[in-house]
Amino acid sequence: MIKKLSLIFGSKTKAEEIIYLLSGLKKVVRQGYYEPELPKIEKFCKEKDFYLIKSKFKVLLADETNYSNKGIKIKEDDKRAGMYFVYISKEEKEALLASYYELIDNYKELGSVLGYPRCCVDFFVRNFNENNINLQQIPSNLYTNITKRENDCVLISHFPCSSGCEESIKIGVKNLQAITEIDQTRAEELSRELKC
Ligand SMILES: [Zn+2]
Repeated sequence: MIKKLSLIFGSKTKAEEIIYLLSGLKKVVRQGYYEPELPKIEKFCKEKDFYLIKSKFKVLLADETNYSNKGIKIKEDDKRAGMYFVYISKEEKEALLASYYELIDNYKELGSVLGYPRCCVDFFVRNFNENNINLQQIPSNLYTNITKRENDCVLISHFPCSSGCEESIKIGVKNLQAITEIDQTRAEELSRELKC
């Protein structure tokens, strides 16, 4: 199932976020896509009765994995190939709120709608800026280890405030559980790759 979803969503990590959405672990996901990638995602969302809201802007991302909120925003009609953000949810309100908070650069509320722990959202807002776009910590456990995210192996979608952040670990544990239930092999791969 993850393999099949990854063909639509472009990576296993993005496919797994859709699994978290389907299993109720996430209320809304935020993912970046280039225009040509969108039709099959829109089709999937339609079939699943998911709301998909597309950002009114494009972003020249500093970090292709969507962790960075602060890529350069450009207008939709800008000729440069920017990424759109899409916000996908079972609830129209959640998807709209996420898109709205990102549009007005309210990262505190955006993080909250996306279900990130308060401590990590505060950490992000305090520390993230143009000169400091990678808030990655030295990993101490597989659940909050985001160092392999560019290799498509990660269990959380945010920068943890510390490697030992309990709220983040809880999210990582539940996410791995959800993956284990549907794809044992992938769960083993993640555990192996993220082990510290
Ligand atoms: Zn935290």
